[in-house]
Formats: sequence, C-alpha cells, structure tokens
Amino acid sequence: MTTPARPHTRVVALPDVAGDPWHASAPPLYQTATFAQESAEGFGRYDYARSGNPTRETLERHCAELDGGCRAFAYASGVAAIAAVAGLLKPGDEIVAHDDLYGGSHRLFSRVFEPRGISVRYANLVDADDSALQAALSPRTRLVFVESVTNPLLRVPDLAALARAARRAGALLAVDATAMSPWFQRPIEHGADLVVHSATKLLNGHGDVTAGIVVAREEGVAARLAFHHNAEGAVLGPFDAWLLLRGMRTLGVRLDRQAASAARVAEVLSALPGATRVRHLSLADHPDRARHQRQASGAGVLVAFETGNVERSVALVESLKRFAIAVSFGSIASTASLPCRMSHASIPAAERTLPEDLIRLSIGLEDPQDLIEDLSRALRRSSESSSPRPSPIPQSARPPALSPT
Ligand SMILES: *Cc1c(COP(=O)(O)O)cnc(C)c1O
Repeated sequence: MTTPARPHTRVVALPDVAGDPWHASAPPLYQTATFAQESAEGFGRYDYARSGNPTRETLERHCAELDGGCRAFAYASGVAAIAAVAGLLKPGDEIVAHDDLYGGSHRLFSRVFEPRGISVRYANLVDADDSALQAALSPRTRLVFVESVTNPLLRVPDLAALARAARRAGALLAVDATAMSPWFQRPIEHGADLVVHSATKLLNGHGDVTAGIVVAREEGVAARLAFHHNAEGAVLGPFDAWLLLRGMRTLGVRLDRQAASAARVAEVLSALPGATRVRHLSLADHPDRARHQRQASGAGVLVAFETGNVERSVALVESLKRFAIAVSFGSIASTASLPCRMSHASIPAAERTLPEDLIRLSIGLEDPQDLIEDLSRALRRSSESSSPRPSPIPQSARPPALSPT
C-alpha cells in the first residue's frame, strides 16, 4: 500500500495519456484537428479536436486532480473560462459578484451578459457576515462569483460562509482562484461548486500562453459545461495545452520560492519611506491574514503598495530596472503595474474601488535581494524628485483617452 501522494509529487505526476502505445515520459502533443475512424459508423474515442484531444484531456484531468474536482475544462483564455461559467445562466437569472473584480470579468458581466438579460449585482462579499451575505442574494441569484484572493487589493472572502449562503439561495459558488492556484488554495474543499483559473498566470508561470481552466465539483454541472465547451468551441489548442502542462509540473517549486521572495519584498518595503499601505498576506497587519491562513497554504506572489501620489507611482514604476512594466502576473519574471491605468482601466472610474496610485508587483524567481535593491533605489529616486513631474503636454492639447481594450 502506498500512502496518498504528497503535493509536490501530485504536481509532477501526470495522468496516463489514453492509448499511448509508447508510454512517452512527457505528454505527447497531438497537434491534430481530426482523427481517422475505423469505419464510417463506428466512432472511436476521439473524432475531432474541438470535442476532445488527448493532450488537452491530459491537462484537464491533471487540473481536476489538483483542485479536487470531478472534471476540468480548458479554454482559450481565463475570460473564456469565466464566460463559460456565466454561460450556465439564462435571461432573468442574477449574478452576485464581489465588488473588487478583475477588470475583464467586470466588463464581461456588465457589457456582455447584462445586455443579454442576466442581471449583475456587485456587493462587498468579503466584509459581509452571514446575515449580510444572505441579504445580498435574491431568489433570482444563480451564481455567486468571487476572487480568492482578490486582485490587486489582496482581500480574502470567507469561502465556507459564501458556499453556505449560495447553497441556501440555490446558487452556484464560483471562485476565481487565479491569484492562488491549487498550490495554495483548493476552493472546492471549502464548498465551492466551480473553480476558475486564468492559467495565463501562475499555472503556466512562463508568460507564454493564454489559457483558462474551469474545475467542477460535481458531475451535473460538469456535464453542462462539457456540452457548452464543445457546442461553443472556446477550447484550448493542443500546443498551448502542452506548454501549460509543462509549466504546471514546476508549480510547487516556483510558487514556494516566489511567495517566499514576495514575503521578503513586502517586509522590506513596509519599512522603507515612501511606500505606504504595503499589502501581502504574510504581513501581520493584513486584515484578512487569519482567515487566509485557515483556507490557504501560502500568501502568493503579489505585493501591492501605494505612494500617496499617482505621478510618483508612475515615476517609480518607470524607473524600475528589474521589473518589466506589464499587465498580467505570476510569471517567473517579475513585473510591475499600475492597475488603475492597466488591468483595471476597463472598469469605469466611478465604480473602481482601487486607489489610483496603487502599484502591483508580481514577484518572480530572480534573487529577491536584486528586487529589493531595485525597489529601494526607485523609491529613493521618486521621493527625491519632490515635486510632481510637470506634464510635457498641456492638458488641453492631450489626445482623448483611448477607449479601454
Ligand atoms: C488575468 C485574469 C483573468 C483573465 O484571464 P485571461 O487569461 O487574461 O483571459 C481573470 N481573472 C483574474 C483574477 C485574472 O487575473
């Protein structure tokens, strides 16, 4: 008898690819659109790659295993995965979402699903107690949607309480666990019905694929997702599935190391003049730390902080040498971004709950000391230039803001 595999072993081990006669040690890449059949009437296990592809299926089974669900589905992007979840609803149904959402999720709910007759309500689902949660849901609520942890404010919803409230209302609880990945958090164990990942981020980890994953707890919901996956066709291609599998096998070592570096960066930043409200779930002053420790095994790779002044935040980010200025996060290479100007710019300013000067760092695999020295230097530089940088173009002559993409 072997004991159940421990986490690092489970991340590396892959399910067997059905029918591989050569027992390849790496998952075979079935870069094919169609599969020849034995006869005109008797179809084999695979016929057409939208409906099923062995490489994608290996990825999906691995994802289901890691998140503790019954089945998983791989999509062409994280938002395609979220659209698949919202696509379970029909006109007249209601989505209740936490009011601090990734910009693309907010845009998808408000500008794609609302015009189709699905109502969307945003509420603070993180600070709500049991009775407030119950009051936030209505008899029409069919989907409760939260991020755990939220990006970029790093707030933590109480997953078990949300699962209870959703069940009472007859709604599904979907958790976007992009910022944690199954390495740090498995929402199904806390009662979630669906887990969503933008696999573009931590799961892949190398910044070379866009992909999304939905993991379902139960077969009933999985069967509906399977039908839509094939019928709507937003499936992940075989090569991207193969790259993602390759990235996922180092999930454990990457994230343990990146999260430890993120904790060091956060601790040093907290003591540096010029950085205020430093956020990381390892810090003792984080309001949700105790809750997070009950339902997750690590604090993640994102660190957020403020400078008190947007111009200063822009100058700081622009003077960093070891961080690329980039949207997205979770890669082995560190990045810095200004969410209000970048990933969350598609949320109308009046609805945004983010501080304008918020800087988000994604900590990679570099030596943390190099990152810390870079941040210290950039902070010093941006505080020395005490007056805000004069704008080179007069306000009136500026081109109109680009519409959010
Ligand atoms: C990036 C992101 C998404 C969207 O994923 P894509 O792969 O970019 O489509 C969804 N949720 C969160 C929390 C994200 O960070």
